[in-house]
Amino acid sequence: MCDLSRREFLAGGTAFLGLAAETELLGGPIPPGMAEAGAADLIAPDIYFHEGHVSDTADAVCNNGWIIFEDYVLVVDANFPAGARLIISKIRSLTDKPIRFAFDTHHHGDHAYGNQVFVENGGVPVAYTGVIEEMQRYETGYYGNKPGRWEEAAKGRADLRTTRLKPPSVLFSKDLIFDDGKHRVELMHLGVAHTHGDAVAWLPKEKILFTGDVCVNGPYNYVGDGDVGQWVATLDAARQLGAKVVCTGHGPRSDGTVLDDQQAFFKALREQVGRHMAETAPDQAKAQVESIRAALEADARIARFVGERGADDSFPPQVEKVYEELTGKKLTALVDEPPLARRAHARSHGIVSV
Ligand SMILES: [Zn+2]
Repeated sequence: MCDLSRREFLAGGTAFLGLAAETELLGGPIPPGMAEAGAADLIAPDIYFHEGHVSDTADAVCNNGWIIFEDYVLVVDANFPAGARLIISKIRSLTDKPIRFAFDTHHHGDHAYGNQVFVENGGVPVAYTGVIEEMQRYETGYYGNKPGRWEEAAKGRADLRTTRLKPPSVLFSKDLIFDDGKHRVELMHLGVAHTHGDAVAWLPKEKILFTGDVCVNGPYNYVGDGDVGQWVATLDAARQLGAKVVCTGHGPRSDGTVLDDQQAFFKALREQVGRHMAETAPDQAKAQVESIRAALEADARIARFVGERGADDSFPPQVEKVYEELTGKKLTALVDEPPLARRAHARSHGIVSV
């Protein structure tokens, strides 16, 4: 048996062995957190999930997915360059088929800065047109103006200094479908959410949804580039797909309830900020942040989305953003309050200059 056919055989065998267990799983709710972070997780035949690790130093920061079609592999998210190399090596241990496409769910560094690595390995970065608009807005260095986010992020990540930004070159304005008769993947822009350029990957046959950061599973919501009000509506569109498996942008994979829970978190946050802060002047309003945090933490369904106090506290910037959306005013008293926390959390999304 030659190398190629043995590898193909082993990959097929793994898929076959996983099939029995997964068929059972797909029939019922999947306990959150069952996949081990860092391991390639076979969700259904030829369809994999890989959980990244939200930290400054991890190779693979965002979650990835890949689908092995008959003739090629489509990867969901390009990750940081070190993450791209890791994902490519994991795919290479499963199949020799060309890794033809890397789909950027949005423009953030932890999802798109590995594009050039995929290009050097024969892949083409693919994205919704809104990703290019966001890159033009924030990646000013690439487009001939002052240094932008890439240059800032490169100060803290060595892997960025050995490669370059590569904006996606295959673009879609609404959706793009990959279908070889066996597998079907629909890339779709469902609306503004985590950014103004998010898209998801929907597998209608298996009812698997790769959300990018439209949905996360834990305290990983970075809201600085999106719109929380519109995000709630976009999550409605995602919920209507009827996914049985949801592979979020960060945190363990889950079932469809993670979409409900993340939406409930944003609805509660908007309701609390509206009730306790909207009528309050910016310099007074910040006193409400901790009582709002406590109210959301008391709700078991949404508590996991609330950041904890400390270096990675994602909560004050979320309150600040919602206050701004509801009142049109900046919550000035909070702006400098948790600069370390804000930067640490943003940095995990590949953003430093915020
Ligand atoms: Zn992001």
